[in-house]
Amino acid sequence: MGAWVARDAAARGMRVALFEQGDIASGTSSRTSKLVHGGLRYLEQGAFGLVAESQRERAVWLQIAPHLVRPLPFLFPIYRGSGPSRWKVRLGMVLYDALALFRNVEPHHMLTADEARQLEPALRAEGLVGAARFFDAQMDDARLCLEVVLAARGDGARVETYTAVDGLIVRDGRVAGVRIGSREVFGGMVVNAAGPWLDRVCAMADDRGRRLRPTRGSHLILLPLLRGHALVLSAQRDGRTFFVLPWQGLTLIGTTDQDYRGDPAAVACTDAERAYLIEETRRVLPDAAVEPSAVLAEFAGVRPLVSAEGVSASAVTRGDLIEEGPNGLISIAGGKFTTARAVAERVVDLAAKRLGSSRFQECRTATTPLGGGRLVSSDEREAWTTRATGLGLDATQIEALSRTYGARLGALLDLATERGAERLHPGLPWIVAQVDWAVEQELARTVDDVLRRRLPIALGPHRRDPEVIRRVAERMGTLLGWNSAVKRDHLDRYLAA
Ligand SMILES: Cc1cc2nc3c(=O)[nH]c(=O)nc-3n(C[C@H](O)[C@H](O)[C@H](O)COP(=O)(O)OP(=O)(O)OC[C@H]3O[C@@H](n4cnc5c(N)ncnc54)[C@H](O)[C@@H]3O)c2cc1C
Repeated sequence: MGAWVARDAAARGMRVALFEQGDIASGTSSRTSKLVHGGLRYLEQGAFGLVAESQRERAVWLQIAPHLVRPLPFLFPIYRGSGPSRWKVRLGMVLYDALALFRNVEPHHMLTADEARQLEPALRAEGLVGAARFFDAQMDDARLCLEVVLAARGDGARVETYTAVDGLIVRDGRVAGVRIGSREVFGGMVVNAAGPWLDRVCAMADDRGRRLRPTRGSHLILLPLLRGHALVLSAQRDGRTFFVLPWQGLTLIGTTDQDYRGDPAAVACTDAERAYLIEETRRVLPDAAVEPSAVLAEFAGVRPLVSAEGVSASAVTRGDLIEEGPNGLISIAGGKFTTARAVAERVVDLAAKRLGSSRFQECRTATTPLGGGRLVSSDEREAWTTRATGLGLDATQIEALSRTYGARLGALLDLATERGAERLHPGLPWIVAQVDWAVEQELARTVDDVLRRRLPIALGPHRRDPEVIRRVAERMGTLLGWNSAVKRDHLDRYLAA
């Protein structure tokens, strides 16, 4: 949210400073299920407005960041005596298409059991009566968030990572700025986009109200289980919806939804959540290798949901709340990664109104491509492929780099030409020059920033590979002037995380 607020405000001509206590997207925004989606399951809650807005925003993301947001085909298998019936799924699908104004990648199709198993043979045959096939989109959450921040910087925003706000400056009952250690930064407007830390930031101005109902969601990563479709599944134990998704050549299973009042920075998948996800996935993919020993990695995040009493965690709305406190502080609770741009637009509209809107331009974030999202001509793409091949990169590497950097690929190849295109590891498509790029262009400061959020290594089979970790640390050490003790410290912290 904060990234989009900074991006929008800077693009409209405001002077903006963005302070992030850790790395970009190190909070919830790198711990999502990696879906830019309409939220099929919110139809059951009657949240039609949220679904329609999410579908509109999915179309925006696909337009402004096509390298990082890609259409993903889904199957919703229907089993006799478990989960929603065929007519209910069909009705939901018609509604889902309608709320996207019939402009999704493709309209849904209802399939027979045989057709579904032809597409995904691992699906349990027993009791399968059919499936719905439809589209949503998949993203690289951390890199998207980074793209938004880089766009904000491009428009003049000042961005400081590893800079925690530890106090709010209140003058005459109004929040007039923030405190960072002994430093004071004043602004006409302060926006609290601290996600699961929101209430803590409000408390810095002696406002101890509870705006959030934080819930934990966990994911598991396993070797590939599917042929290319994602699955939407209904858990037998509690009827919750969860996903089995193809992701980075692996499988991502998630998520859970449990009330969580602990430290958001210390959130982790529990044994019970791991067992639940494995048991429920095994029901539908009985012959696949889904067992605790097959889990390659896992991660959890905290949803900063809008406070609600008397409902289960998974029934809490995924809608947003923009609150303007009596002290002038604007706080953003709830929302989804998918809808963050739209929420930020409303926040910046409000800020502009308070600051005197005639001074600022209109919001253009829905139509302006993010840096890597610029349309690339086929000539340009061909020229890059020729250059990359000349540098010794193979087709898999070129595809992986192009998906990661989009229209910035040419600039990355310039850097690789200057510094070399050596691979980081024979089993990975990545090159060492990406570490240079991450440090020099993408605000990476720690080994964890590079391995977890600039590249998807920390969640893959090479996450503990000493050679990969050492090479990244060595390169960063050279670029950032680390001595051996600092390097060791970075390695230890990455491994502990
Ligand atoms: C398990 C899970 C799965 C999800 N899946 C999806 C999905 O597939 N699709 C989707 O659209 N949404 C999904 N969501 C929802 C989505 O991730 C969140 O709504 C969104 O990322 C929240 O963004 P945020 O900016 O509010 O919070 P954050 O990303 O947490 O950002 C807040 C930032 O504020 C920083 N901060 C906090 N306090 C301070 C301070 N004092 N000083 C400086 N910085 C501070 C934090 O370090 C943090 O980086 C999922 C959420 C979870 C938990």
